[in-house]
Amino acid sequence: MRHVGLTGGIGSGKSTIAEYFKALGIPVYSSDARAKDLMESNGQLKVELIRLFGDKAYVNDCLNRTYIAELVFSNPELLDRLNTLVHPVVRADFMAWANLQNAPYVIQEAAVLFENGGYKNFDYTILVKAPLEERVRRVMVRDGVSREAVLSRIQNQWSDAQKEPLADFVIENLDLESSREIVLKIHELLLQAPKNR
Ligand code: ATP
Repeated sequence: MRHVGLTGGIGSGKSTIAEYFKALGIPVYSSDARAKDLMESNGQLKVELIRLFGDKAYVNDCLNRTYIAELVFSNPELLDRLNTLVHPVVRADFMAWANLQNAPYVIQEAAVLFENGGYKNFDYTILVKAPLEERVRRVMVRDGVSREAVLSRIQNQWSDAQKEPLADFVIENLDLESSREIVLKIHELLLQAPKNR
């Protein structure tokens, strides 16, 4: 089975694109959602997160997301250390999940794929991109946050220009109907594509 990585900057629309692949019957693993679950269910990871962020990392055994987000978004080194702890656990969880799927290929959706070298684990990668101003606008509307808050999150990610040369497929996600058609084309190519690792 081929493993496909799907990524894109904040507000590019990668979750929206992931839904189009799901509608074609392709299993999609959401790294974000699973990482949040694993940070609460994986005992060893919890111990390490408390060592990194202190006791306030959990409130009544639930991850204190707001507290951790505030700390890491203003401190890139801490964000790096958080990712170093979480990524191997998510990777192992994805591999176990992928082994249970019965499909020609599976997709792992991840906000960060190129930045950390994770893209090398995949047979193919798909980058979703959109102009910066459009992404800012979408996230402001979706999350009800300020322009500054979106921009500070975007600063922690690579630009589309840095990611594009490393991607096998690029979807410029502007008009949703065109994006859906491109997804269908990529799907057809992936059905015939060889394993590539
Ligand atoms: P994040 O990294 O923040 O999770 P994302 O890349 O997964 O974001 P989505 O959640 O899919 O992005 O999209 C962000 C917002 O923009 C959503 O509200 C979504 O409905 C909207 N959106 C996605 N694609 C388009 C599009 N082509 N045109 C207009 N709005 C869009």
